[in-house]
Amino acid sequence: MWQPCVLVVGAGPTGLTLACDLRSRGIDAQVVDRRDGPAPTTRALGLQPRGRQILDRLGALGDLPDLSALDMKFTVFVDGRPQVCFDLDTLAGPTDDGVLRLPQTEIELRLRRRLAALGAEVRWRTEIVGAEQSPSRVTITLRTADGEQTVQADWLIGCDGAHSAVRKLVQTRFDGSAFPQTFMLADVRFSATPKHGPALYLERDQLLAVAPLPSGEWRIGATLPADHELAGGAAHPLPMPMTANPSSGELPSTSQLTFLQELFAARSGDTATRLLAPSWFSVFRINRRTASSFRRDRIFIAGDAAHLSSPLGGQGMNSGLADAFNLGWKLALVARGLADARLLDSYQAERKPATERIERATTQFTRILLGGGVLSRFLRRVVVLPMMRRPALQRWVFSGRPALRSSYRHGPLGATARRWLARAPGPGDEAPDVRCRRADGAPTSLGREIGADWGLICFGGAEADLARCAAIVQARLPGGLKSIRVLPAGTTEPLDRRAVLDPAGALQRAFHAGATTTILLRPDGYIACRAPRPDAAAISDWLDRILRLKPARCESAFERNGSRFA
Ligand SMILES: Cc1cc2nc3c(=O)[nH]c(=O)nc-3n(C[C@H](O)[C@H](O)[C@H](O)COP(=O)(O)OP(=O)(O)OC[C@H]3O[C@@H](n4cnc5c(N)ncnc54)[C@H](O)[C@@H]3O)c2cc1C
Repeated sequence: MWQPCVLVVGAGPTGLTLACDLRSRGIDAQVVDRRDGPAPTTRALGLQPRGRQILDRLGALGDLPDLSALDMKFTVFVDGRPQVCFDLDTLAGPTDDGVLRLPQTEIELRLRRRLAALGAEVRWRTEIVGAEQSPSRVTITLRTADGEQTVQADWLIGCDGAHSAVRKLVQTRFDGSAFPQTFMLADVRFSATPKHGPALYLERDQLLAVAPLPSGEWRIGATLPADHELAGGAAHPLPMPMTANPSSGELPSTSQLTFLQELFAARSGDTATRLLAPSWFSVFRINRRTASSFRRDRIFIAGDAAHLSSPLGGQGMNSGLADAFNLGWKLALVARGLADARLLDSYQAERKPATERIERATTQFTRILLGGGVLSRFLRRVVVLPMMRRPALQRWVFSGRPALRSSYRHGPLGATARRWLARAPGPGDEAPDVRCRRADGAPTSLGREIGADWGLICFGGAEADLARCAAIVQARLPGGLKSIRVLPAGTTEPLDRRAVLDPAGALQRAFHAGATTTILLRPDGYIACRAPRPDAAAISDWLDRILRLKPARCESAFERNGSRFA
């Protein structure tokens, strides 16, 4: 019988990220998906800075930044008049490289390549149809072309999308609602570059967005008039049902194409550009939903299976990546017997509030964008868009992403002390991924240096102090630690391979670090603990509190799985 340590259901971005993360930590994670092969449709178009960092840390980013070389400027029109222009290229933050505009297909391809390099392939045409769990394992029933097959795994993770079978198996609620509007998306070729290039057109409560794709096609997205026949056809209770899909041979009818052309011309005012055959066409309702629970014992859900938010916020795929990166290191520690299973409670405790915050923020954003009432339209025209002409505000919204930045400081692994007034990033906060230089002068960033490992960062401090703290971490967490000494430019100290240079003091400022501040980073890039000096006792206390190691570790799951893991 097939016995992976972790069975991941779903080869979308969430499942692939989780499988790469687990395998990079030595866990036998396998992925199944009911599709015949990779999805051909573009779907999500934006990799946010956090999603980009996650792929980078997992070694899956590859050539995606080169592929994203698209026109990043777009203009927002209200009632036919240009209101504000954004250039996403100039909006990278001080601690990130900005947004990548790429279709989801390209991201999934890079993740599958990384998974292959880590020794696994997706098993397509394999659908989960049942699961039962005991205190020590999950028995899973899969349907394949050869009939039903039983698999035993230590853990089952449902990354199987909005209609998740795993979510239904664990009988968690999926509370929320759908927006009243019906949306349509199409990837099309135009006869020429559209008159205004990339643009967003808003008129009363109707919207049209036009954006280029790396393939030379353009994505158009629009709300559909409530009385249109296509709008009636999308009254599905859950999101994104495709009415047409090239892989199934369905394409919009001639009358639908004519309708698309007329809708494009009417909302953009561009009557000269002809719309050619779409390669993908989809009509859907937007849902906002969150599962009441992300876990039942040995079964977890992540990504769209656990939460849905408006795609107008561009966060759906990215929050699935963040779920996977949050769960991966915790599950690996527990599977290897290096942490008590209670650590896994922190997955839901950290990710559910974060995804609820995203859901609220993207819902607000969508409501304002769609101008569904007189007040929303007034706010949109008189307050929000005029304010967004200020470059500083654009940078704040796009780079800082205030409402979307997730901190776990109030979660179970966050600070125990009351520190909501503290400005310095502390336990449970995302560590700033600041650019710095290697000892040989080569440019790098903190995230790139640490990858998906634990990180021990020591500002100044003696080499011996850093080594002492590193030994404490290594004793509890064998392997997977990067120790870094941050030194100012022009330092006279001999530089070893653990040193990075902070020429303009950006790292020091971003962390509000003193002369000897020492910080332990979790493998997902969040701050575990910080101390004003290399304090081995503080690090040891944090690890003891979080890992709750038993004094005598019995035969670990890792050793059992290790024998199974070729
Ligand atoms: C039309 C459309 C446009 C979108 N636009 C955006 C956007 O602009 N920005 C954005 O951030 N997000 C967007 N999204 C959302 C984004 O695509 C999702 O958030 C993202 O795909 C979620 O990834 P996931 O891995 O959690 O789930 P999915 O990508 O849905 O992957 C789930 C996988 O599980 C498999 N599966 C399902 N059931 C089973 C089963 N029983 N057994 C085995 N396998 C199963 C499926 O075949 C699928 O491959 C869009 C989605 C759609 C459909």
